[in-house]
Amino acid sequence: MPLIVTLFILYEALIVAFFYNEYKTIVETSHAKSIESVESSLKQVINTFRVSNDNFHMQYAPRLGWYMHEQQGASKERKESLRAQMLSEFMPFYNAKNLDSLDGFQIFDAQGRSFLRFHNISHHSDSLCTLRYSIKQMVQNYTYSQGFEIGRYKEAFRYQYPLFYDGKFVGAYEYSIAFGALLKEMKQIYAQQYLLLLDAKKLEQTIDPEIFKNRYETLDGLGYLYKKEPLHDSFHSSKLKSLLNERAFVEALELKQKRVIDYSFNRKSCRVALLPIYDIEKSEVGMMIVDAGEGPLAALLNTTLIETALAMVLGSFIFILLAHQVKEKLYVRNLLNSQKELLIVTNGEKIQDANQTFLNFFGFKTLSDFQRLHDCICDFFIEEQGYLQKKMGELNWLEYIQKHLDQKHYVQMYDKELATIKIFEIEYDYSKEIDYNFIVFKNVTDFIREKSELQTLANHDPLTKIYNRQKFEESLKEKMKRIGLYPSLSLSLIMFDIDHFKEVNDTYGHDTGDMVLSELSALVSEHIRQGDVFARWGGEEFMIILDAPLQKALVFAQKLRTIIEKEDFKGISITSSFGVTQCRASDNFETLTKRCDKLLYKAKESGRNRVESE
Ligand code: GH3
Ligand code: MG
Ligand code: MG
Repeated sequence: MPLIVTLFILYEALIVAFFYNEYKTIVETSHAKSIESVESSLKQVINTFRVSNDNFHMQYAPRLGWYMHEQQGASKERKESLRAQMLSEFMPFYNAKNLDSLDGFQIFDAQGRSFLRFHNISHHSDSLCTLRYSIKQMVQNYTYSQGFEIGRYKEAFRYQYPLFYDGKFVGAYEYSIAFGALLKEMKQIYAQQYLLLLDAKKLEQTIDPEIFKNRYETLDGLGYLYKKEPLHDSFHSSKLKSLLNERAFVEALELKQKRVIDYSFNRKSCRVALLPIYDIEKSEVGMMIVDAGEGPLAALLNTTLIETALAMVLGSFIFILLAHQVKEKLYVRNLLNSQKELLIVTNGEKIQDANQTFLNFFGFKTLSDFQRLHDCICDFFIEEQGYLQKKMGELNWLEYIQKHLDQKHYVQMYDKELATIKIFEIEYDYSKEIDYNFIVFKNVTDFIREKSELQTLANHDPLTKIYNRQKFEESLKEKMKRIGLYPSLSLSLIMFDIDHFKEVNDTYGHDTGDMVLSELSALVSEHIRQGDVFARWGGEEFMIILDAPLQKALVFAQKLRTIIEKEDFKGISITSSFGVTQCRASDNFETLTKRCDKLLYKAKESGRNRVESE
């Protein structure tokens, strides 16, 4: 029982572990998907702008290159004129671009000085190299670059293209896409609400303090700023507040970690994805919060809980059933083992089960030990007439029993421990409906022995050990009945009496007389055929019933008479007189015995030590 309980607890623990693991995997997968969606939509938007910018570059790079070549070393006036010309040529293009998206368009020379800002025409000729990493890189490497960057006036996503004239680097130009524009585009692809949190320290270092003050709001001392309206309207402020109560959210912001947070807002299960944003130098400049819609967490948790509960209930049910069965099995096992008699389950050829008494009797610890050496209990049946054998003609012992259910069946088996042969009565209730044959081997050794001893006592004469008068009567009556049924059979009776036996007693004493009676009985017994009956009729008178006709009985009587006459009974010689007669159809017990008695009397009369017959 404790094993079952342990197993049950183990099972329940496994169920919980399994479903918890399942739940965790699903949550992790779902988180990974949310992150992936945000990342891919950001990438997609960045690439969409890039494609449009590349197209522009293909078309206008030579023209812009020419301008930048022309202004190199030119006079201030010439530069102004070129600036004005460029402005009139490209302003329609700048205006045509959505102002929302194109936050800035600027051209700078080979030394990294601003030549013209379309978004701030009056401000130019300032050196950008020291302030902006991307421009420093550009004037050194002349290669295209893109990325997020905080400038003096803007924090934006920038695309920078180098300009060449006659294969010589003459400057570069950049598009700045407001992050708000990126977010707006992202809304078309994935989630509806975005908020960009910027690292306060980085912004303070770079952005003009005047601009800074008007443009940003701080986020609860977490070191982040976010843009005031209209960008902020994209993310519900009360949602943001409730998020600030989430430990995981605050932690992710502090560690600048990519993470998905499931939380509850207005009793609704919600989800946000947090994505670190890197600048062109590959350092984190902020975090993007993306509303990833309704979190599947609550529903998932519910499903998992229901599944877990169901599995647990089912498990409990199975275990209760199992425990019940085990208990029942144990009960049956105990019941079988409590039986003092040998009990087996068999098909007659192979033993299938057995109780403890069986194992003890044969000296095996387990049934398997027995089975390793023997198939059948019948291997132990001792061959003895009148007892059941392994094979009964064509049938095996069990089939034989099944065919002879009305009879009693006994087997003899050797008891190793007691070194004796034991007799067993087979108790077997045969039913075709039951697949198993339960067979009890009931030890009847003592009973059989006692019975046969009693029988011996009842049928035998205590002095001579031969049959007594009662058994004689029984036997004669039975044999006479058989003669009645089968008249062709013959039956004869011999009666004999010791001559002058009184004298033996008188001369040697009664004990010696007893000895003679007993020795004479043994002597005659030696010559009695099986099936014939030799009994003490009374005193020193004896009867022999022979399954033979008169003639044969007469010869036998003569033979006996001679044998007795010649025998020496410890120094004493005796003779006997015989009456012999054959049973007739008209005879009954009295007429037959009387006739025999008369013949014996006749023998006595005629001088003794002789045989008279009729
Ligand atoms: P006969 O038969 O030749 O006429 O002479 P008998 O002496 O044998 O005659 P009887 O029948 O008169 O005597 C039988 C004797 O057998 C009498 C009795 O003492 C003796 N006798 C009978 N039963 C026993 C017995 O169990 N033990 C002993 N020792 N003697 C017995
Ligand atoms: Mg006598
Ligand atoms: Mg007598």
